[in-house]
Amino acid sequence: RHPMRLDRFLGNQPHLNRRDARLLLAGGRVRVDGQVVSDGCFEIREFSRIELDDSVLQAGRAARYFMLHKPAGVVSATCHEQHRTVLDLLDEPDRQELHLAGRLDLGTTGLLLITNDGQWSRRITHPQHKLAKVYYVETADPIGEEYIETFARGLYFAFEDLVTQPAHLEILDSRSARLTLFEGRYHQVKRMFGHFRNRVLRLHRESMGPLWLEPGLMPGQYRSLTPEEIRLI
Ligand code: URA
Repeated sequence: RHPMRLDRFLGNQPHLNRRDARLLLAGGRVRVDGQVVSDGCFEIREFSRIELDDSVLQAGRAARYFMLHKPAGVVSATCHEQHRTVLDLLDEPDRQELHLAGRLDLGTTGLLLITNDGQWSRRITHPQHKLAKVYYVETADPIGEEYIETFARGLYFAFEDLVTQPAHLEILDSRSARLTLFEGRYHQVKRMFGHFRNRVLRLHRESMGPLWLEPGLMPGQYRSLTPEEIRLI
C-alpha cells in the first residue's frame, strides 16, 4: 500500500470532512506516533499510529523486518507446490503479510531480507538504487584473471538485450571468488561465469547494501533487524 497524506486520511473518516481535518490539524489535536502533527501533507502509512484527542483513529500495524540465512533447497517465494518456502522457516504470526526483498535461487544460500514494509523493500530491490550485493562463489574450473575486466566492463545478456552493470570480482583462490553486483538479473552470477563456460557449484550471498549476514546465524536461522539496521536502508 502507498503512503497517504494525513489530511486525506482525516477527511476520509466517516465523521469528518476536509474542513474539519484542516481545523483539527491547525488546533494541534492530531498525533502521529505520539507526536503532534499540524501539516496536512505529512505522509502516513499503515504502520502509523494516528490519534485524535483521546481516540485512536488507526492503531498502526507493526512493521517487521528479518534477516534469514537461506539454506539450499528452500525456495525464495511465498508459496510453492513442490518445495518448502523461506517463509516456512519463520516462526512468526501472520506470515502471509510478509514478502521477500530480493530472491535467491533454490540452491543458493545466504542473506535474505524479509519484511511486511513494501516501501522499505522497494528501496532494496529498486534497480535505480544500485545496492551492492556481495556473493561468495565456488566454480568447477579455475577462475582466470581476465574475468575481472570482463565483469567490470559488463556482459551482454541477449535475452534481456542489456549490458550488465560494472561488477567487481575479487579472486580468492583458483576456484573461488567474491563478486559484487549492483543489480540482480535472473541467474546473474551463474550466467556471468557461464560466459566463460565455468559452472557455479556454490553460491552464497554475504550482504545486501549495508546489511551483512550475521555470522552466528546457521542456515535456516533468522533474526529481527535492529532499528539501526532498518534505518540504514
Ligand atoms: N545469481 C544467481 O545466479 N543466483 C542467485 O541466487 C543470485 C544471483
